[in-house]
Amino acid sequence: MLQNGNTTFTETEKESILNAYRRVLRASSDFLSKTDRARLRKAFRFALQQHGDTRRRTGEPYILHPLAVALILIKEIGLRDLNALIAALLHDVVEDTETDVETIQKHFGDTVARLVEALTKITRVQSPLDSVQAETFRKILLTMADDIRVALIKLADRLHNLRTLTGMKPEKQAKILAETEFIYIPIAHRLGLYAIKSEMEDLIFHFREPEKYAEIEKRLQDTAKEREKYIQAFIEPIEKRIREEIGVPFKIESRVKSISSIYQKMQRQGVDFEHVYDIFAVRIILDSPPESEKTDCWRTYSIVTSLYTPNLNRLRDWISKPKPTGYEALHITVMGPMGRWVEVQIRSRRMHEAAEYGLVAHWKYKDHQNGRASTYDEALERWLGRIRTLLESPEYSSIDLLSELHPDLTQDEVYVFTPKGALKVLPAGATALDFAYEIHSEVGRHAIAAKVNGRPVLLNYVLQNADQVQILTSERAEPTEEQLSFVRTARARLKIREYLKQQRKQAIEKGRQIFEWRLKHLGIRQDDPVIQELIWYLRLPSLEELLYRLGTHTIDLARIQDFIRLKRVSQGTTPIVDQLSQHLGLLSGAKEVGHEDDNISYATCCYPIPFDAIMGYVTGEGLVVHRTTCREIQRLLSLDSTKVRPLRWVSTPQKPFLAALILEGEDRQGMLLDIVRVVSLQKRKNVRSIRLEGKASYFQGVIELYVYNEPELISLIKALSEIRGLLRIDRYQAPLNI
Ligand code: MN
Repeated sequence: MLQNGNTTFTETEKESILNAYRRVLRASSDFLSKTDRARLRKAFRFALQQHGDTRRRTGEPYILHPLAVALILIKEIGLRDLNALIAALLHDVVEDTETDVETIQKHFGDTVARLVEALTKITRVQSPLDSVQAETFRKILLTMADDIRVALIKLADRLHNLRTLTGMKPEKQAKILAETEFIYIPIAHRLGLYAIKSEMEDLIFHFREPEKYAEIEKRLQDTAKEREKYIQAFIEPIEKRIREEIGVPFKIESRVKSISSIYQKMQRQGVDFEHVYDIFAVRIILDSPPESEKTDCWRTYSIVTSLYTPNLNRLRDWISKPKPTGYEALHITVMGPMGRWVEVQIRSRRMHEAAEYGLVAHWKYKDHQNGRASTYDEALERWLGRIRTLLESPEYSSIDLLSELHPDLTQDEVYVFTPKGALKVLPAGATALDFAYEIHSEVGRHAIAAKVNGRPVLLNYVLQNADQVQILTSERAEPTEEQLSFVRTARARLKIREYLKQQRKQAIEKGRQIFEWRLKHLGIRQDDPVIQELIWYLRLPSLEELLYRLGTHTIDLARIQDFIRLKRVSQGTTPIVDQLSQHLGLLSGAKEVGHEDDNISYATCCYPIPFDAIMGYVTGEGLVVHRTTCREIQRLLSLDSTKVRPLRWVSTPQKPFLAALILEGEDRQGMLLDIVRVVSLQKRKNVRSIRLEGKASYFQGVIELYVYNEPELISLIKALSEIRGLLRIDRYQAPLNI
């Protein structure tokens, strides 16, 4: 069939086209009748004729693509349907050649024509190159929800495009990767096509982070021998006991987890490749008859757990209660030899095939087993039905659609839309202000409020999946310190901090001018000792802070002038500072803290430790100790200064105190481990909690630990500052809650 025409294909190319076609024929031989085969042949000839001698970007004959799609459809998706197969062969004909749908209908009938038309429609849905828009989702899903075969052919098409993505322009690549991530992976997941889903994830990772991908791939190769030996030793006793005690045919496979999932684990746990222990899973497939398959799975489970200690928190029983996708199996993680955790999956052959081919395999069972009604394809039908209804209803909103599509893939991320429908992905917990900075730093800077789905909200509104967000701005609005307490993204945090730093600098400069002018007035120089007393009297940490407050008009200038005047008047008599502080109850008669005392507690807004400057606040439950610089105690002081008590530390506190540090820096691999190494191993500090939250290569975190005193903490800070990429280490101070 390749002889006719004036093709420019070489002999080798002709050979490979015929081979590809023969592979499709062989793969479908057990479900095609003789007439079916004739139709398939006709479709192949037609496609070949239409595509002619066009070539793909990779240089190979175009026809190899539809042939590959057809083969994926049969062998990897498990769809055994002649019309779908023909549609797969013809899927690009209308889009890429002169052929129209009517011609296809004439030659191949209504069903094929309808499938090809739907596939062409999807291809024609245009989305911008760098983002996937809500409208694209809608159109693609609407078309696919019409007939599940459209979705399956499209998945096969997309998988082959990804496998051969190398030849494409970078912009086109980016678009395909984004679409795959947001549309096709969730669909593959929902259809239970896990192998396709994880291959797509790996391909995305491969194209986006080629070096990281290659590194993990190489590590896997380097450790393959050792791993095989380990697995062999692990499964041997299991094999022996299944043979003796259960006696059904069975197979034990081991499967290395996907590269992208290994990478995700490294990221999530902040560890290197060596420290990801569950790199592979062992799978036991029992060839049990349907009536005893569940019992056999549980008996195998008890064999495995009697040989190896299970981690009971990691038992997943999807046999008693299958996943919504219909997935059935037992998963358990056990402690294997050499103290390594190993995940074991136990399932029957029927469950296995359903898992491998998803819901598609189940149709096969239904056809062959007297049309027994199945719960899976009812569930799938219901799901498709819901999507159809959603899309067709006049109140259709992308909110419902997204939650339908991404039920469990979006735990760490939130998907929201701009007013024009462009999709933005933010870390879960991100607020309207994060969104504003995501749009543009100027929008963030002048944001005053937002409208979410048409409803006005504050900037600290926590975004929900598929919110449509519009930011309201005002030229006069400016970033505030308080905003730092609710933004989640590194970008927003950095921009706000940058701005505040700039502002602070300007305020200090302004404060300096005011101060100097006033001092000149009183005949005092800036290095006069009285200034130090003033700072102390105002309980401020530094001259800079005093200037800042002057510059921002948050301190009463009259009070300062009173102080200095009084101070000068009383020169020579009782030091005025003492008088004033006694009046405020601050200096003499200070209560000693730092020993065991049930009535004294230490505030967790500022975590005071010996020998910080401290103050106490009287509450119903006793005295609470704060650092003098704590924002909370300063607020309390301004509300009711009579409840503030002077305090000092006992000279030799005998117990450790809880301190907290705030850490920020580059969210790189192994960061958490490095921090733990310094704190617990090198500095031997007792850690109470570590919380690191990272997104977009930047993290922020708080570590709580026990120390005896401040010098100890300072030496720890110094040691931590040696860690690569750790950019900020400060004493923790809780944001003010007003
Ligand atoms: Mn295609």
